[in-house]
Amino acid sequence: MHSTHTDSESYKLPAAVTEFCDLAKRVVRDELIPLEQEFMASPKQAYGMPEISMIRTVFRPEVSARLEKISRETGLWYLMVPEEYGGLGLSMLAQVAIMEQLMYTSVPLPLANVGNILYECKGDQIDRFLRPVIEGTKTTAFGQTEPNAGSDPGGMMQTRAVRKNGQWVINGSKMWISNADECDFMMLQAVTDPDKRQRGGITMFLVDRKNPGMRVNTPGIATWLGNNPKQYVVDFDNCVVPDEDVLGEVGNGFTLGQRWLTIHDRLLRGPYALGKMQRALDLSVVWAKQRMTFGKLLSERQGVQFKLVDMYVDIQALRSMTYEMAARADAGEDVRAEAALIKLCSGEWGARCLDQAIQIHGAMGESLELPLTLFYRYLRHAQIGGGANDIQRILISRKLLA
Ligand SMILES: Cc1cc2nc3c(=O)[nH]c(=O)nc-3n(C[C@H](O)[C@H](O)[C@H](O)COP(=O)(O)OP(=O)(O)OC[C@H]3O[C@@H](n4cnc5c(N)ncnc54)[C@H](O)[C@@H]3O)c2cc1C
Repeated sequence: MHSTHTDSESYKLPAAVTEFCDLAKRVVRDELIPLEQEFMASPKQAYGMPEISMIRTVFRPEVSARLEKISRETGLWYLMVPEEYGGLGLSMLAQVAIMEQLMYTSVPLPLANVGNILYECKGDQIDRFLRPVIEGTKTTAFGQTEPNAGSDPGGMMQTRAVRKNGQWVINGSKMWISNADECDFMMLQAVTDPDKRQRGGITMFLVDRKNPGMRVNTPGIATWLGNNPKQYVVDFDNCVVPDEDVLGEVGNGFTLGQRWLTIHDRLLRGPYALGKMQRALDLSVVWAKQRMTFGKLLSERQGVQFKLVDMYVDIQALRSMTYEMAARADAGEDVRAEAALIKLCSGEWGARCLDQAIQIHGAMGESLELPLTLFYRYLRHAQIGGGANDIQRILISRKLLA
């Protein structure tokens, strides 16, 4: 099933982590891959969102309950949760290695999907927001992008929060917000000091989905990401939020968002891509060794061999980079520019690797019997979502030219 090329041993991971990787491999092989076709055909499928709410709507109740049970009982549910909240307290390197195994299939295993900024919760915010998300009884959305503020949210954000009668009143619009209709609350960025903007003038609010001042425009925006995309335009019309629902300090909401994007979003894009790339290579090798044209196997054609080698090179290079950067993040190094590098390469190399795999498979590559098209769409999207590639290049060039 999984190729030997993914061996985590070559990265000298502790035995406990290797055991976890093997466990994740078994769950993928025995539980998730058999569900791939049902998942891909479901009209409720919204790829790229390992939200428990989505998994519950895609699969029959007994199937989603089974996946949830497996995830909780094996501990994989708590893969990214710190020890103080009942998690495994795993290093970034361990998380990356285990996540790579889980990403070998198109079927997402339900996991505690917290987004590390929520660990900024204080006092009773912990029980109202953080713990329910860890346990999967509540889900969130992240509201940064606006119709006219994508790559430059700090400079262009228009959504405003002003203080009135001891509370915050928010007005504005967000766009492309994943999970906005399904979430229980949104982590929303709004400008609180227009003179300071991203340097102390943007604040993060926890806004209840039922807040009468927040309107999610349904249906969502149609994209090629899944059969039932979950991105929405959300309007805020005199939306009142109390002081106790400010996340972190007033004015540091932009920094919080960037911290999340840098480590959890950008670094984890590495394993998200690697699992898919490795699966694409493994499927391509099997296919090339059985498909005959003009009296010979595809695997005997140098043109096809070179494609396989190019895929392999991309995988090896991305894996080395990702594991190294994760280890450096664990050692306390500032890896912001390096995380941008991972995001850039995982999207670009990932999409070209999938493109090769689809080509090698011919018509079969376009079929929904295989996960290749879904992987391709996700990896192409990864060049835009969470900060477009040009922006990653800008971040890297700042370090180069500093
Ligand atoms: C499926 C999906 C899910 C999303 N989910 C969320 C979400 O949950 N929450 C959220 O807040 N946002 C979300 N987004 C928004 C996403 O983060 C933005 O789309 C992304 O940051 C790019 O912004 P933009 O689309 O406005 O592009 P623009 O900023 O308009 O940029 C357009 C193009 O120009 C390039 N460009 C911009 N500036 C420069 C420059 N200085 N030099 C060179 N090139 C440049 C960009 O790289 C891009 O290719 C989502 C988007 C998608 C498609």
